[in-house]
Amino acid sequence: MIEIKNLKKSYLVNGKNSEALKGINLKIEKGQVFGIIGKSGAGKSTLLRCLNLLEIPDEGQIIVEGEDITKFNKRELREYRKNVSMIFQHFNLLSNSNVYKNVAFPLEIAGYKREYIDKRVKELLEIVGLEDKEREYPSNLSGGQKQRVAIARALANNPKILLCDEATSALDPLTTKQILDLLLHLNNKFGLTIVLITHEMDVVERICSHVAVMENGLIVEVGKKDEVFNSP
Ligand code: ADP
Ligand code: ADP
Repeated sequence: MIEIKNLKKSYLVNGKNSEALKGINLKIEKGQVFGIIGKSGAGKSTLLRCLNLLEIPDEGQIIVEGEDITKFNKRELREYRKNVSMIFQHFNLLSNSNVYKNVAFPLEIAGYKREYIDKRVKELLEIVGLEDKEREYPSNLSGGQKQRVAIARALANNPKILLCDEATSALDPLTTKQILDLLLHLNNKFGLTIVLITHEMDVVERICSHVAVMENGLIVEVGKKDEVFNSP
């Protein structure tokens, strides 16, 4: 589904080129829960952000369902991004909008009619277990509830791929478990492909089918979770 070939990305830091990705090769198949683990600064976030072109790679290809997304024009990119959603460590909710409005936002942008938006928002809030929170504002929600709102919003346009950027790193262990269970449920029920980055081994242990270990801009190990963690 996703094939990354020789992906490179540098940042200009104090007038010097600093290589964050030094030639990444990776295949992620449909329906996998793919974890990318590594220390802070390894390049995980840069790699994840390349997958929806929030970061533009300098070199290499990202082939998604047969098409190199790095070659997309604006219109193609807009279409592609409907299929790829992202959730974040700090949720990135609209603080002046209630739960309903937060979830409706991507549907309004996509231009759907009020009636459909209403129906879809209710459906999404049911999926994440927040039916009774429509009128609440983010500041009145727990971290776990905020992440559920973010997940509902991310699912609004029926994406095929969900990118998770340290999505449980701000949550306590019990809430982390609940959010990971929800992600696994979405993977099972909708065949949603999940790519997550984390520095927490427990997260990978809990839900990933496949793992890549990043170090210093490169992937140093990759495979099925059990193979990667049982290798000597
Ligand atoms: P990770 O997610 O594994 O912590 P990042 O992808 O955030 O790693 O960072 C990889 C490297 O790229 C780090 O050295 C980081 O400081 C650098 N970097 C990331 N984003 C930027 C940026 N916008 N400008 C300059 N350097 C950056
Ligand atoms: P996190 O730990 O949540 O990944 P960071 O502090 O690493 O957050 O990054 C926050 C933002 O700053 C990101 O958009 C990242 O791309 C950017 N960034 C990271 N490292 C650098 C850097 N060395 N110089 C400039 N921007 C950076």
